[in-house]
Amino acid sequence: MRNWTSFCNKLRENLNSIWNLIESSSGQIYRYDNFIDLLDKKIRNQDILEETINILLDYGILDAWIDISCPICGEHLGKFRYRNEIMNKTLECIHGHVFRIDDNFFIEYEDYIEYLVKIDSSEGKKVLGEFLKDQRKCLISKKRLLVFFNKVIDVLEKTRDNMKKGRIFEDFFELYLRTLKNTSYQRGILTYQGRGDYDFLVDLSKNDEIIAKYRREYYVELKNKKSIDKNDILSFINKVKESRCESGIIVVSTKLAGTHKAELRGYNKRNELTLIYIEGKDILKYLKDQKYRKPEDLLNHAFRFNI
Ligand SMILES: [Zn+2]
Repeated sequence: MRNWTSFCNKLRENLNSIWNLIESSSGQIYRYDNFIDLLDKKIRNQDILEETINILLDYGILDAWIDISCPICGEHLGKFRYRNEIMNKTLECIHGHVFRIDDNFFIEYEDYIEYLVKIDSSEGKKVLGEFLKDQRKCLISKKRLLVFFNKVIDVLEKTRDNMKKGRIFEDFFELYLRTLKNTSYQRGILTYQGRGDYDFLVDLSKNDEIIAKYRREYYVELKNKKSIDKNDILSFINKVKESRCESGIIVVSTKLAGTHKAELRGYNKRNELTLIYIEGKDILKYLKDQKYRKPEDLLNHAFRFNI
């Protein structure tokens, strides 16, 4: 596994060097190229520069869009977030000039297309500040986490080695845990009864308003398996019962059957235990959907939905 600690320390150092730029240019609009040049002057390492840009975009600190003007009269045709939003559609200016948007349009009329960014003082800036203050051990772009998660799925498909499948998923989840604010955890410790081990014991108490409403400590079980069966669920529940936290999170890279989800929710309804589940599709949604603006949002979503 890559040494994420040293990667994140390097990232933190470099983000520190551009923090003033971000603080002082809030609300200012730049051409994308010009802004990257500004960053490029401060951040020498290409890998770190790319990661920085992705993180700024992930957390909405950098708001990016495409501005298009009419190639005939120069009137504003519109502001768009992604190329795909307008690909193969037609745009019309107020003077009635009509254009079909395709790859050709972008090449032929590049003078009428501007790639712009604005520094936004969003919640994401708070996340970045917390990382700089070391309250978050790591900050990893969603793009990089997605590559990692795809490897988890890839290993699931290609190997029969259960240890290997489990370990890569734990490595992924550990990296995610390190992006959470003020979160401490232990990995791979023996159960109190000495049968098997807990993948993670996590203390989320100082993390986030929503999470803090619930119990503070969680036993986390990870399953990188094609199909989760009843025994997996029962063994998870038993381990939670045995643990001193009486609360647990089961994270599966694939999916859970409806009956298993209902069984887990039953414990919450009866107030016996706090049981949360996260499925592969939740992880993918978190990694792909821009509305998740901080690492906690994956858990927040699961807590809101499960309890
Ligand atoms: Zn026009």
